[in-house]
Amino acid sequence: MFDKVLIANRGEIALRVVRACREMGIKSVAVHSTADADAMHVRMADESVCIGPASGTLSYLSMPAIISACEITGAQAIHPGYGFLSENAQFVQIVEDHEITFIGPSAEHIRIMGDKITAKDTMKALGVPCVPGSDGGVPDFETARTVAEEIGFPVIIKATAGGGGRGMKLARSAGELETAFRTARAEGKAAFGNDEVYIEKYLGKPRHIEVQVFGDGKGNAVHLGERDCSLQRRHQKVFEEAPGPVIDAETRARIGKICADAVASINYIGAGTIEFLYEDGEFFFIEMNTRLQVEHPVTEAIFGVDLVREQIRVAAGLPLEFRQEDLTINGHAIEVRLNAEKLPNFTPSPGRISQYHAPGGLGVRVDSALYDGYSIPPYYDSLIGKLIVHGRDRTEALARLDRALSELIIDGIDTTIPLFHALLDAPEVLSGDYDIHWLEKWLAENLS
Ligand code: ADP
Repeated sequence: MFDKVLIANRGEIALRVVRACREMGIKSVAVHSTADADAMHVRMADESVCIGPASGTLSYLSMPAIISACEITGAQAIHPGYGFLSENAQFVQIVEDHEITFIGPSAEHIRIMGDKITAKDTMKALGVPCVPGSDGGVPDFETARTVAEEIGFPVIIKATAGGGGRGMKLARSAGELETAFRTARAEGKAAFGNDEVYIEKYLGKPRHIEVQVFGDGKGNAVHLGERDCSLQRRHQKVFEEAPGPVIDAETRARIGKICADAVASINYIGAGTIEFLYEDGEFFFIEMNTRLQVEHPVTEAIFGVDLVREQIRVAAGLPLEFRQEDLTINGHAIEVRLNAEKLPNFTPSPGRISQYHAPGGLGVRVDSALYDGYSIPPYYDSLIGKLIVHGRDRTEALARLDRALSELIIDGIDTTIPLFHALLDAPEVLSGDYDIHWLEKWLAENLS
């Protein structure tokens, strides 16, 4: 096992990894920008290294600075968290070239899954169900028209290098196709330096269901059920839960096995998430995330496992601590994302926290790096914490969420807390009856 792990991230996820390290008796090294010198992850880690100025590009994304911090502190492994360098194949290669262990999958697997066309081809070949669409890239508009007419409108044009909801354009009819095709290409080129696009059938009322998988890198893998993340704004998740309200045990076992077998067959190592759109009882693969996800705590809650501990263990060459048959679901968990944003437009609201009080009690977990008097810097993502509740069933989890939200105090800035108070009054949220488009419509009717 490693003596010392460096955490190449900030905020709640850096703190999450510090906590796992401490429980495992591993020393942790925090890295930080000048803007984060007073951050909680820096205070809680055993050591810290300043790696650059406030700008993320010059600090948390600076590969030379992070490698140097490892060498200075003698850290043997790097945990990347999510975002920043967590899915950067080049970084993983450089880390390995320096004989440091990357706590995550191989550079090759990250590369395959980072290119959406290659990812889809790979998954299809491994027996994972995919959205009907073009076979690989679509080189020109003529081909786009032929493919779109074959699969039928509406269609979605996606940049193969796209991510974070960018480089995706909807064409409802033949008349919209040319603009959608050219815009997706231009966005792909501008944002990701790659103008290759492909076409998929656009699903009108899907849910977002994602399967958590875990591999040991030696041909063994398990699944940890699904999360339903259908409540989204601008393709960003805001409320996640496990298990999915519309997935039964038999469906879970079937899709879970397909996913676990797929990653086992490529000797995948570490945590991964296979994301699907789910409509009319059918799963359609959209992408695989080769890292820990923001919403991983809901899975931890219902299975009673520590996914970060497991990531560190398999990276150190140890076997998985659980077999598929050991993994049984206990109750229901919900996570809401607390963002420093002002409603109704979700504009960033950085600033000083004048008062902070975290909720507690049975079945409540808060993953956050906030403290009284902390100043949220304006340079990074607006996620400031996650409130996770666990109950015996969905009804109890919802009641617990309502209770925990009523105890939570974050003063001095605007946050998304009022959104969740309002959502808990919506009949659709209480019954779980929504698709990925529902929240946008509800926001337009209720919050504008
Ligand atoms: P990104 O990498 O940018 O997150 P994804 O491929 O994961 O892109 O898709 C993001 C979101 O876009 C999905 O969660 C879903 O809301 C929507 N989406 C993607 N593909 C389709 C599709 N074929 N039909 C309908 N909606 C889609």
